[in-house]
Amino acid sequence: MAVQQAGAVRGVIADGVVCTLPVPQLVQMLTPAVPPAVLQAAGKLGYLSLIVLYVVTRKTNLLATSYVYYLGRPYHRLAEMNKFCTTLCPPDENMLAIEFSCHAGDPIWRSSADELLALSMPHLVQDGILEPAQVVKKFLVRAPNAYPIRYLGYRENLEAVRTHLEQLPGLALLGRTGEYQYIDSDQCMERAIELADSIAAAGGG
Ligand SMILES: Cc1cc2nc3c(=O)[nH]c(=O)nc-3n(C[C@H](O)[C@H](O)[C@H](O)COP(=O)(O)OP(=O)(O)OC[C@H]3O[C@@H](n4cnc5c(N)ncnc54)[C@H](O)[C@@H]3O)c2cc1C
Repeated sequence: MAVQQAGAVRGVIADGVVCTLPVPQLVQMLTPAVPPAVLQAAGKLGYLSLIVLYVVTRKTNLLATSYVYYLGRPYHRLAEMNKFCTTLCPPDENMLAIEFSCHAGDPIWRSSADELLALSMPHLVQDGILEPAQVVKKFLVRAPNAYPIRYLGYRENLEAVRTHLEQLPGLALLGRTGEYQYIDSDQCMERAIELADSIAAAGGG
């Protein structure tokens, strides 16, 4: 297996590989190359991207609950960090996560923090959530492969890819991205524990 770390590529001999990479990327990396039909099926799987604008503020109680989903706004979800846990931010700070689902490379994806804040602010003001003067600082986090998309026919394409990958000894797919399943953190952890147990039971750990 070739591993790229800090720009350098080195070879690693492993008994097994647990893969959390996006499925289409993994399929393109394998040597020997996967059959063209598998490559084609993997190419039809895709992920919705997410760009999160984090806005630090001293204002408290921005939302009535930890997160709220929206229609008719440029963002699809707002989340208030101090509503998840009061010690998540430094003392006297709170943070609003403004989440935009998009496709990597589209105009939203390419927007700067200033542009996304300008797009959001009229709605935040109108909804009584935040005023421009209450913004202390802001930064962006981009997740290109956030949500596996259930395109028409995705089951057949995923099945074709999985059937091929399952024949490769020592390779296990894991997690939302790796398994192409829309599962939450708790399910990801549960599956990771189960996989670790099965690897250990097979004498691998
Ligand atoms: C903004 C946001 C809010 C969320 N809120 C919640 C929530 O409230 N509750 C909840 O249950 N879930 C939530 N989720 C979903 C949750 O975070 C995911 O379901 C979970 O993290 C998926 O875990 P995973 O191990 O499958 O993937 P990840 O945690 O994404 O792990 C995949 C790993 O693979 C690595 N990787 C990918 N490509 C490569 C590569 N080419 N080379 C090397 N490494 C690579 C990545 O760096 C990463 O470490 C949220 C997600 C986001 C983005």
